[in-house]
Amino acid sequence: MHSLLTSSQQAVALEEQYGAHNYHPLPVVLARGEGVFLWDVEGRRYFDFLSAYSAVNQGHCHPRIIGALVEQAKELTLTSRAFYNDKLGLAEKYVCETFGYQKALFMNSGAEANETAIKLARKWGYTCKGIPANEAVIVAVKKNFHGRTTTIISASTDPSAREGFGPFMPGFEVVEYDDEGALEKALANPNVCGLWIEPIQGEAGVYVPRAGYLKKAEQLCRRHQVLLMMDEIQTGIARTGKMLASDHEGVRADLLILGKALSGGVYPISVVLADDPIMLVIKPGEHGSTFGGNPLAAAIVVAALQVVKDERLAENAERLGQLFRARMQAFMAKSKLVTLVRGKGLLNAIVINDSPKSKTAWNLCLKFAANGLLAKPTHGNIIRLAPPLVITEEQLHECCDIIEKSVRELEA
Ligand code: PLP
Repeated sequence: MHSLLTSSQQAVALEEQYGAHNYHPLPVVLARGEGVFLWDVEGRRYFDFLSAYSAVNQGHCHPRIIGALVEQAKELTLTSRAFYNDKLGLAEKYVCETFGYQKALFMNSGAEANETAIKLARKWGYTCKGIPANEAVIVAVKKNFHGRTTTIISASTDPSAREGFGPFMPGFEVVEYDDEGALEKALANPNVCGLWIEPIQGEAGVYVPRAGYLKKAEQLCRRHQVLLMMDEIQTGIARTGKMLASDHEGVRADLLILGKALSGGVYPISVVLADDPIMLVIKPGEHGSTFGGNPLAAAIVVAALQVVKDERLAENAERLGQLFRARMQAFMAKSKLVTLVRGKGLLNAIVINDSPKSKTAWNLCLKFAANGLLAKPTHGNIIRLAPPLVITEEQLHECCDIIEKSVRELEA
């Protein structure tokens, strides 16, 4: 018996009554997870096709990551950074060597890591690029998603993220995504310190930019002495078929921002990676977090990344992603409801032939759930499909069967 609640209705009623209404969940109450599977309180099993927005790339409750969590939790969990701890340096070394950077700065949520990158880019802009005080500009792109803090939503173009939450933080210029000309123009401004970008826009609906766009962005950053701030919180850690989505184009960020699957979904851990000339602009006392870099997080990070490497999850995502898109494309040719499939590795989306305001995608997700698979619409008529990367070929085909059956049921 893992759950104190005996029925789904009870759990939903409690959340409705006592929880803030800041989410609109599918009516499924989950109580247990293992690998690619989730179980609800009634014991029904589902394939997870969201992976907690790509935090659970290693699969639910991976025994090696849970083992590291339990072992460390018995020794020491939190010291604050007022003192050194015996795990943080090891984790810093491990992430720096894994991703090829000189320094790491751990935080907790993805939003906090983005905030950290913004501070680093601004401070670097003033101290290294010579931007006049308080004049630094960060260039962001339309339809971005970097988190929910007041600074981050200041660069958002999503009305539901912004309306009612102003006034906004100055110092952002927002340009078209996947538009090299717009970048050329914006980065020529000498007050620009950073270009802040997702290599694939996950939350916006898995928008993959044209080949060459990221490379061009990197070249423009070098030419104009601008830091490339790459938010790989959703795309990183093997999700798109390589360790980083930037690796597909051989692009190296100046500020690499990671979160989510850095812990395999067992603990909130995020990090910013950079080389010395950038990271060392921040001095003691200028930035931090009570929980950031705690020994529990440090032990978990190392185990979670080891699993990704040892189980060759990037290779699995690359191979099964191609299989998935090929099967969905073949299905689409016969379907009136699904018009498009796009993505990289195991970060994919299908687009439903209806307006973003319609309930069709939501109703399709209800059908998925009834047939044993969990996914959720993002922005109306787009459904993101992102299983844990430990999924096998056989399981993937079973999931495609469920998706196709559900679409056919809705079409009927
Ligand atoms: N950046 C990207 C690309 C994300 O997808 C997300 C979350 O979905 C975030 C940042 C925010 O992360 P968190 O919810 O941990 O603050």
